[in-house]
Amino acid sequence: MFLIDSHCHLDHEPMASDINATLMRAKEKGVKGFLTIGTDLSKIPLLASIAENNDDVFATLGVHPHEAEKTLPEKELYKVLTQESQHPKMVGFGETGLDYYYTHSPVEIQKASFKTHIEASLECDLPLIVHTRNADEDTIALLKEVGQGKAKGVMHCFSGNAWLRDQALELGFYISASGILTFNKAEELREVFKHVPLERLLVETDAPFLAPIPYRGKPNEPAFVVETAKKLAEIKGVEYDVIITQTTQNFLKLFSKARFSCV
Ligand SMILES: [Zn+2]
Repeated sequence: MFLIDSHCHLDHEPMASDINATLMRAKEKGVKGFLTIGTDLSKIPLLASIAENNDDVFATLGVHPHEAEKTLPEKELYKVLTQESQHPKMVGFGETGLDYYYTHSPVEIQKASFKTHIEASLECDLPLIVHTRNADEDTIALLKEVGQGKAKGVMHCFSGNAWLRDQALELGFYISASGILTFNKAEELREVFKHVPLERLLVETDAPFLAPIPYRGKPNEPAFVVETAKKLAEIKGVEYDVIITQTTQNFLKLFSKARFSCV
């Protein structure tokens, strides 16, 4: 079995100019599957080519809530998302969601963009990658209203409380652990993760951001997802191998369009 980094940004530096070596370092650590995440429509050709050129790299389509103001109106956005998702290596929609911490785009525009991603996800039967910060209630409300209980996906880089965890689990969502879980001050978050069932866990780096301990402060990269998986094993009181097997099975179940050569 091998680990899958369920959320990285291979189009960001320093990884972008050194993708082969980056993936090689990950593979040496047993991290053999990668999902590189869209943040803007202008990135689609680049992400598609990264995925085409590398066997076990898949990509997603989406507009990050920070970029929502700069993107297309809803109808056109919907059209681009649904059309581009026909690419064989595009396996999900996101990252999308709501960010009221930075509010780089106005709230109503973020909501409209999120709603459009949810609609595309229902139409194409592909999962959502949800980013939510300081917007727990609105995020859950939109997933319920627009998703009609049918939308599936992952709460990426989960740093929320028990309420958000339980709501997401009730909706059938997966919860993804990032390097934050290893931070000294993340005691409460580790407590929240204790009660996420094994069959709903994913692991990610969000590279190049949020490198786990002992790499904190360095640019993050997929190889480092091992540290998060080890911490998760400690929190859940299971062997590291159990986390590897389980998170990979979970990923394959959620992102069922992704076909890995190493499976
Ligand atoms: Zn991200």
